[in-house]
Amino acid sequence: MYDIIIIGAGISGASFARKISKYAKTLLIESKKELDVKTNIFPEHNNPYLKNINLNNDEIFPKEHIKTNYLGKKVNGIIDSKEFGNSLGKIVYTEILIDSLIKDFLDNGGNIKFNEKVKLVNRTTNKMEVITSKNIYYCKLLIIATGSSDFKLQRSLGFSVPDTFSGIFTHIYGDEDIINENFDFSYLFHLNPQISNNGPFFFNVGKRRISTGFLGNIDESEESLRKKLNRILENYKPIEPYLRNLKWSNSSFITCKISKHPINNFSQDRVLVLGEAAGLVTAFFYEGFLSGLLSAEFAMKTIKSIIDNDHDFSKMELEYYDKKINKNLLENYYKNGLACEYLFYNPNSKVMNVIWDTYTKLIKENKRLRKEICEAYWLQDITSYDTNRDKWAGEQLFKKLPTVSKITLGPKFIKALMKF
Ligand SMILES: Cc1cc2nc3c(=O)[nH]c(=O)nc-3n(C[C@H](O)[C@H](O)[C@H](O)COP(=O)(O)OP(=O)(O)OC[C@H]3O[C@@H](n4cnc5c(N)ncnc54)[C@H](O)[C@@H]3O)c2cc1C
Repeated sequence: MYDIIIIGAGISGASFARKISKYAKTLLIESKKELDVKTNIFPEHNNPYLKNINLNNDEIFPKEHIKTNYLGKKVNGIIDSKEFGNSLGKIVYTEILIDSLIKDFLDNGGNIKFNEKVKLVNRTTNKMEVITSKNIYYCKLLIIATGSSDFKLQRSLGFSVPDTFSGIFTHIYGDEDIINENFDFSYLFHLNPQISNNGPFFFNVGKRRISTGFLGNIDESEESLRKKLNRILENYKPIEPYLRNLKWSNSSFITCKISKHPINNFSQDRVLVLGEAAGLVTAFFYEGFLSGLLSAEFAMKTIKSIIDNDHDFSKMELEYYDKKINKNLLENYYKNGLACEYLFYNPNSKVMNVIWDTYTKLIKENKRLRKEICEAYWLQDITSYDTNRDKWAGEQLFKKLPTVSKITLGPKFIKALMKF
């Protein structure tokens, strides 16, 4: 019998496994044969939750994230961290980072099973029974860190599920010199309602590989996502210069799901839910690593104290985890995401365009806003995030709107303020 079984070796499950395996006999189960290749943005504010990983290891973190391009129709909002200090963080080759978390987990005595899907979980009074495609395992505490691919397990245990959106991404591989010539930024974030009313088109720029794609609407079909991404890469003028001399293949497009809007409780007797499975992804930027790492940290603290006191894993004991997530994440940093989601993602294309174009112009012209954005990346303790900076940014955005939009959108900005 294991003390703890974790389902899912994404950033949430793997980082939690690495932490808790120092204190408990732990099994990590992953349905995939091997980890997916992913190139992501890794802001500096993630670092405190990833202790003892070498941030200078350029196999994991191939590039500094110096510049972001908030691409607009007429004006680009460029954040160049050199204007104020250090880089904004790193570009991460996620599968290599997770691999290194798993190595530490195994060094701590943890056990891992790849290519084994958990099909069913049964709860009894004193243990959990975990039935996979190959085996049956038992544990005292179960951790669900299954992301957005399948909510069957958490539903069967009585948890609710977050709102889930469709997305698509691909990798473009190329010579490092060509990539450096084409991209003078590490991250591009662009809104266009013709692409999606619910998410950005993006480039995450690594050394010899770039990830690009967009996060779409709730029920967009795979075929529609694929066709749209193909049209964008082939014909979308604003991104043409970045793709010069680079080639991509439609057959490597990957459709995916992403969830947000957290579920209402994260713990039950003998079970915790971590990361994206719990909807812990920011609602505007779709930042999921921070909450994956943070939920792993809070879960580890909760469980270590229960182990130290030789208690059971009852809901009452595990509820400390819910409290930490609510107080430190959902009641501050996440509110920015909810307010921005409400303002920027809009079924009315005209509104979406006017707000986004005004925002990119504001970034270009307002030094204090550029500094505030950098400072949000650099925060060393996200739990003390000050949402007043977002209210201030919202006011500046409102002031910069064309006069007619100020009149029509005034009530919307007031409602956005009420999200805080
Ligand atoms: C296109 C795209 C780009 C993104 N870019 C960024 C970014 O740059 N920065 C950022 O911070 N966030 C980004 N995000 C969000 C972020 O990637 C996710 O929120 C985060 O990786 C979720 O981590 P997780 O560990 O909770 O879930 P996942 O990474 O989804 O891991 C869940 C794991 O559980 C496994 N699993 C599921 N069900 C079972 C089962 N029944 N049995 C066994 N195993 C199972 C899955 O195979 C998977 O490996 C992006 C998301 C998307 C879609």
